Amino acid sequence: MYTASCHCGAVTLEIQRKPRKLTQCNCSLCKRYGALWAYFQRKSIRILAESNALQVYSWKDKRFEFFRCSTCGCITHYEKTSKREDASDMGAINIRNIDDPVIVADVPIRLLDGAFSWKVLDENPQPYLLNSPCIGAECES
Ligand SMILES: [Zn+2]
Repeated sequence: MYTASCHCGAVTLEIQRKPRKLTQCNCSLCKRYGALWAYFQRKSIRILAESNALQVYSWKDKRFEFFRCSTCGCITHYEKTSKREDASDMGAINIRNIDDPVIVADVPIRLLDGAFSWKVLDENPQPYLLNSPCIGAECES
């Protein structure tokens, strides 16, 4: 079991396995968040937070809900809403919040062109380690 948490610690997410891939998206929202998504079945993500600890943002056709900590503002995860025509139970956590980044150091990051083509652009994805070389306790300040 692995944990991801926001900066102030009010929100913790638990996942049961390490992600096989990570997705960086250039859509109008993800590029601003700077998030790095790991997709999971929503039911496999356990969220530990007080009821008022999360705020939600949804836009346009409201097919997704993006959650952030109401105290420190870290983007923690997103979920599909019932407005999605496919009924799949998909969600994603922002792996930038993972408590031990070493866990995902070798996981490849693919680039999703959410802004234009909605296609994956990168056929030779770089691992997380090269995208975020500052892994280790010295980076936690
Ligand atoms: Zn927080």
